[in-house]
Amino acid sequence: MRNIAVAGTGYVGLSTGTCFADMGNNVTCIDINEEKIAMLKRGESPIYEPGLSEMIVRNMKAGRLHFTTSYEEALKDAEFIFICVGTPSGVDGEADLQYVRMAAESVARAMTHPLIVINKSTVPVGTGDWVADIIRRSQPEPIDFSVVSCPEFTREGSAIYDFMNPDRVVIGSRDPEAAERVAQLHLPLRTRIIMTDLRTAEMIKYASNAFLATKISFINEIAVICEKLGADVREVAEGMGFDRRIGSQFLNAGLGYGGSCFPKDVKALEHMALVHGSHPSLLRAVIDINRDMRRWAVYNLRELLGGKLDGKRIGLMGLAFKPNTDDIREAPALEIAHMLRNEGALVSGYDPVAMANVARVDKQIRLAEDAYDLAAGADALLVCTEWNEFKQLDLLRLRDLMAQPILVDGRNIYEPDMMVSLGFKYRGVGRVPRNANGA
Ligand code: NAD
Repeated sequence: MRNIAVAGTGYVGLSTGTCFADMGNNVTCIDINEEKIAMLKRGESPIYEPGLSEMIVRNMKAGRLHFTTSYEEALKDAEFIFICVGTPSGVDGEADLQYVRMAAESVARAMTHPLIVINKSTVPVGTGDWVADIIRRSQPEPIDFSVVSCPEFTREGSAIYDFMNPDRVVIGSRDPEAAERVAQLHLPLRTRIIMTDLRTAEMIKYASNAFLATKISFINEIAVICEKLGADVREVAEGMGFDRRIGSQFLNAGLGYGGSCFPKDVKALEHMALVHGSHPSLLRAVIDINRDMRRWAVYNLRELLGGKLDGKRIGLMGLAFKPNTDDIREAPALEIAHMLRNEGALVSGYDPVAMANVARVDKQIRLAEDAYDLAAGADALLVCTEWNEFKQLDLLRLRDLMAQPILVDGRNIYEPDMMVSLGFKYRGVGRVPRNANGA
């Protein structure tokens, strides 16, 4: 049993803290957001993450998981503190490190004994050294500490499973003893542990996310070529994916990546490269193709609706950036809603869990009660998020509720030929109906 503090109770901090508590450690999570901490103290999760609420309550009841807004309280007996605060995009695409700076300063002021500071936030290469400088300068009196980088690779929507079953844990530090102690913390996960230096660990995170984003943009480029040439990208991806050198994951063509990680991390890596005099042309292409996929949706809707979107009622199926999360940061649906409204369309949307978050940031979008309510009177539907509940809809009922049976499937959840035979004017990404009556 170790005493662990976790700074930041967002998607990463809350799942990290809760999982370490579940592994038998004594964990105190800190956040500067008093509302979040008040909710957590009542045993309520401020985010939707499958399995997380139950795990929080179980570990609170067992006395292993605590929440506070006080760094002093959290660090009183802590051996380790994980920094899991946000690192959003700055104006030029660089990572905005203001929250990391604040957390480091708070740690420096509150620590009373030697501490291992573990950075889990995704931060530019060199940030570990910068954090060490901040702590050293902000300490009222010198106390030993070490900074370790331990980037996070979990996915929202399966964060608990991913944390408990990682493909690897990456640990970077200048201090071999501190790195060894962080490795010990992760031993119960029985996974590969990669020990390296601080900068390499930080780069492994960016390179991994940039590679996955590249895979997504690659298959989206192939999808658009498939449309022109009459090939089916789903089958192309399947045919490619059996090749072990390629692998089948991240080859689903669609509206592109979103969320709080890929968009900002690819931009931040591009920015780091530019600042240091290199030409990140591949990363730029990845970003451009991703943006083009949002335009692909608007283009197809416009074309199917006779060349004009003005006054057309369009329903967005799914608003979260991916299924099983309520996270709407950089969600394709919200960017597309904006683009559609710019052309005069009336946009509504439905999502099983993300609507409260949408209502906070987009006051213009009409929120429907379910997919059928969304379809009622709509001129067209656009699938933005591949929620399972959309795969089992009564499609004939959906069609009959619509003003026009137009469906653009931005996530390829339906079969083109079946949709055409049901009477829809249907477009998928990189999939042309083989049936000659297709739209
Ligand atoms: P988030 O925005 O959901 O949560 C960040 C939390 O930090 C917020 O609750 C905020 O109030 C809190 N905070 C800000 N300043 C603080 C401070 N000084 N002290 C204590 N708390 C503070 O962010 P997130 O999605 O959990 O991401 C955190 C980091 O992890 C980012 O760098 C992100 O890139 C990285 N990451 C995220 C994911 C993911 O799936 N979301 C996956 C891997 C890595």
